[in-house]
Amino acid sequence: MKNLWNDQNAAALGDDLLAQRVYTSQLLGQDPKLVLHGGGNTSVKIREKTFFGEEEDILYVKGSGWDLETIAKEGFAPIRMDVLMKLAALEMLSDADMVAQMRAGMTNPAAPTGSVEAILHAALPFAFVDHTHANAILALTNNDHGEARVKEVYGDRVIVVPYIMPGFVLARKVYELIQSQDFSKIEGMVLMSHGIFSFANTAKESYDRMISLVAEAEAFISSKCAGYEFPKAEPADLNLVKLAQLRSEVSKTAKQAMIARFDGSSEAAGFAQLDKVADIAGRGPVTPDHVIRTKRVPLIFSNDDLDGAVDGYTGTYTNYFQRFSTPDIQMLDTAPRWAVWLENGTISFGRNVKDADIVGDIVKTTRETVQLGEQLGGWIPLTESPLFDIEYWELEQAKLKKAPARKPLEGKVALITGAAAGIGRACLQALHDAGAAVVGVDLNPEIEELQDDDRLGIVCNLTDDDATRGAVEATVKRFGGLDILVSNAGIFTAGAYVEKLDPANWDKSIAVNLTSHVRLLHHCVPYLRHGIDPTAIYIGSRNVNAPGAGAASYSCAKAGLTQLVRVAALELAAENIRVNVVHPDAVFDTKLWTPEVLARSAERYNMTVEEYKTRNLMKTEIKSADVGNMIATMAGTTFGKTTGAQIPVDGGNDRVI
Ligand code: ZN
Repeated sequence: MKNLWNDQNAAALGDDLLAQRVYTSQLLGQDPKLVLHGGGNTSVKIREKTFFGEEEDILYVKGSGWDLETIAKEGFAPIRMDVLMKLAALEMLSDADMVAQMRAGMTNPAAPTGSVEAILHAALPFAFVDHTHANAILALTNNDHGEARVKEVYGDRVIVVPYIMPGFVLARKVYELIQSQDFSKIEGMVLMSHGIFSFANTAKESYDRMISLVAEAEAFISSKCAGYEFPKAEPADLNLVKLAQLRSEVSKTAKQAMIARFDGSSEAAGFAQLDKVADIAGRGPVTPDHVIRTKRVPLIFSNDDLDGAVDGYTGTYTNYFQRFSTPDIQMLDTAPRWAVWLENGTISFGRNVKDADIVGDIVKTTRETVQLGEQLGGWIPLTESPLFDIEYWELEQAKLKKAPARKPLEGKVALITGAAAGIGRACLQALHDAGAAVVGVDLNPEIEELQDDDRLGIVCNLTDDDATRGAVEATVKRFGGLDILVSNAGIFTAGAYVEKLDPANWDKSIAVNLTSHVRLLHHCVPYLRHGIDPTAIYIGSRNVNAPGAGAASYSCAKAGLTQLVRVAALELAAENIRVNVVHPDAVFDTKLWTPEVLARSAERYNMTVEEYKTRNLMKTEIKSADVGNMIATMAGTTFGKTTGAQIPVDGGNDRVI
């Protein structure tokens, strides 16, 4: 645990208490060992002038939907202290009334709704209050001797609160404790199976206390677990088709395409190879806050028992729901949000890469904390009933509902060849804009610039069969499967009449423009089979239906490619894999067509460049983005019942029509 406080940075904030609150909140948010993705909350009490010039005490508390790491002043909800203290003194308060009264008590109606812990923050008699779900505290409390361990570490310096559902009930309990105990010498409060609060009258002291309290827990754990190291291993039974099959079943159960992020790191594989992994991973989450993203338990499966595993999970989940629900609650989807892939590692699922990675971060924390808890005498998380209450608590579910509307291809995985520039790049862009995670393949090393959450670039020579298979496998490994193949890579070969045709030129065109596509499809089918509304789309050419003299190597390869599409459409229809081809023409906004080349070509036809660019029936210029948009549309549901089709993007050609 590192104290990140910097005197200089803090001094620059002067005596602006809210700015200080923002500063230390961000410091807490930067350490994943303290909080993850929207977890934890902080507050400061400030006496300030109202609009009417009167003085009043305001609690600035973290607004829901904000992340401590990136929070700003506007992320804090300003709520009148007198309102919160009146709420704290009530015997009972429903969630709906609590939220309504908190909102009604705000001095800025445009601010976000305050954290569900706002009343608890108000009740604590200190200016600054910090709350985290520190891993070390969870490892310490989630076991048989939790309370004794906490006492051993802190003595009387912290108050220990048994697990109570967050929100009003917890606030009320703490309010009672404050009435009966002297808090002046107390540095913090440990909430069993939940997390820790620190508090003080300055930003620095409250932050320092959080760091030192957690550091003490870490030191205690290190001494108790001296010599223990997290087991490390390599994935031992990796079968990527199984991964794609799992993603398919999870997506069907969730009723939406899901990304599956496989973690095969040595730590994840080590965890997945523990003898008792099914036991310890299946006991529950490290803190109840995680349950809305991870569900209570993961799916645990091996390659041998994958068939029916997701259905089994659904059955167990439905049973859990039925045991704890009341008639007014609707069951969420029954798909797991993470899985332990025995022998190989862990997998996190999400509606897009970002969401899957949030779950992945929680899983990483869970793996470590569970193992430490086990070392400390047996990992025992909360039981089903309190976790159900959190999972189905509308105030928690509201956090997820803030997510933006789903994009048409969200959760889908696309592989695009020849994606460094031109039409391929436009296809990649259009698919990504529509929400798909994309993998671009190209000979050009520039493709490697694609390196972020949901875009991956792979340098690959598609005439090399091993490299091609490697690119397909890398796609599945990265995002869990393959739904959309855009087979675009191609070359123009020098034009020549057949009599003068260079055989090498012919061979090269056939190898790149035809054979490589056959091989690529060969490697993709085992994964497309498990794709979500899977489709393969080929980039053909106007040349296929309106050939020109002197272009045999190019035209014949593209005609062969079109025939491949027709055969593949026949072969794959039974598995609902759609195969179609687009025939673009005269797409000039590519690297190939420099202004000089364009001018020369126009001159050959006795045309101006403008005439040459629009020499089609509609007299319109065809851009690579037009082709990209067509591909993104064809990958979606609009073309869901179309296979074996040839679709022109050429502005109309009288020889084709
Ligand atoms: Zn909490």
